[in-house]
Amino acid sequence: MLDGVIPPAEDGGPVRLLGSRCGCCGEVFFPARAICTNCSAQRGEPWEFGPEGVLYTYTVVREPPGLPPRAFGQVDFEGKVRVQGRILGDFASIRIGTRMKLVLRSNADGLPAGFAFRPSENEGASGVG
Ligand SMILES: [Zn+2]
Repeated sequence: MLDGVIPPAEDGGPVRLLGSRCGCCGEVFFPARAICTNCSAQRGEPWEFGPEGVLYTYTVVREPPGLPPRAFGQVDFEGKVRVQGRILGDFASIRIGTRMKLVLRSNADGLPAGFAFRPSENEGASGVG
């Protein structure tokens, strides 16, 4: 079980994340919080979000020499929460505002290691939002 990750029910199904929503003021958090940092209430409820968000910013790491470049980004979901993670797939054409979707990430042994982002397949058809 991966902390905060809701794996797809079937192959190719959507990956979602599990945060929390304050039952008092409605503020949302990822990772989930027991105590709201906005109003101090202890009324956190499970809050699922994803699978699609909008790329807020990103960087490409080209060090050390010999390793392929890797991209990392921050993605906004529902305009409420910003999540940081690895960007997989072809990131040469991504831009701030690109629609991204959550995917599962494996470690070097092929075991589930968490979530990552990948540009949405329909990106480019309708521009950015
Ligand atoms: Zn609150």
